[in-house]
Amino acid sequence: MDNNINLNMVENGLNFISKSIETVDKPDEDLKYSLINLHAGIQLLLKELLYQEHWSLIFQVVDNSDKDKLKSGDFVSVNHDTLIKRLQKISGIEFDKDLINKIEWLRKERNKAEHYHFVVSADVLKSNIVELFTYLIPFIKSELIEPGYISSEDENFLEIQEYLNEFDEYVNGRLALLQESLNEVEVILQCPVCNQETVKFTDETDAYCYFCDKNIMNFSEKYIDSFVDTYSQVMDGGESLLYECPECEFETFLCLDGYQFVCLTCGAKPTQVNLTTCSGPRCNEKLIYSRYSEDGEYDVHFCDVCEDYFKHA
Ligand SMILES: [Zn+2]
Ligand SMILES: [Zn+2]
Ligand SMILES: [Zn+2]
Repeated sequence: MDNNINLNMVENGLNFISKSIETVDKPDEDLKYSLINLHAGIQLLLKELLYQEHWSLIFQVVDNSDKDKLKSGDFVSVNHDTLIKRLQKISGIEFDKDLINKIEWLRKERNKAEHYHFVVSADVLKSNIVELFTYLIPFIKSELIEPGYISSEDENFLEIQEYLNEFDEYVNGRLALLQESLNEVEVILQCPVCNQETVKFTDETDAYCYFCDKNIMNFSEKYIDSFVDTYSQVMDGGESLLYECPECEFETFLCLDGYQFVCLTCGAKPTQVNLTTCSGPRCNEKLIYSRYSEDGEYDVHFCDVCEDYFKHA
């Protein structure tokens, strides 16, 4: 590493982050810049880690790396995907999956804000920032403070943590206020926007988030996108967490905690005790409602498809 070149990435990175967090709380500030600054700050910290590995790694095309260009800043720097990949493969950094997911969330919101002028509300931003930093602070401590790239007494870093404590209190305070209403909700789902467990399913199309104080359109689609990683489950050879709903037959029937089920299409919310699997020959253990005769005996039955098959067999 060339000691004459000081890119100030750590300093600028922490500065961007602290500015971003500070402005979330100011009513007149443009939240768009909070998102952009936060994203830029985190990218700079990650780039510093690559730079510590070798300066050429912050060039997108390592073959093009050149110290003069590095000094003048006239180069295409590493893009996000390559940055993460190099940190994993070359620097041997193990990222918490939740941290990667939250950084991904930030990237998406930042791009939306830049291209479509759409910005989430301050409350939603705070809630997500609190969660992002739950994973980012330990990462900064182990990867940047312990090796001495950032001082633990760094003013910006201390300031960031102060703001976060305030946000945390604020978010918890809001949740406490909502608790009474939430107690009356039968099945509470996690919100794909603010990430809090504060969503009530209203009907086939709508859900309402108490924390966001908003109806969420296309809830099932957003929920599946955010929380049900069907692709990697299938790739891992695992089963999809989505089943065919015994009520509406859409494949949006989700098991929340091993006991409570909910259909993201029709809102049916049976629990494990009300369900059983069909043992008929025509389906692949389809979930069906348990049936009991009047004297409480379990009534053996099959799904519609299998019943139909027996009738015509
Ligand atoms: Zn929400
Ligand atoms: Zn359904
Ligand atoms: Zn069946």
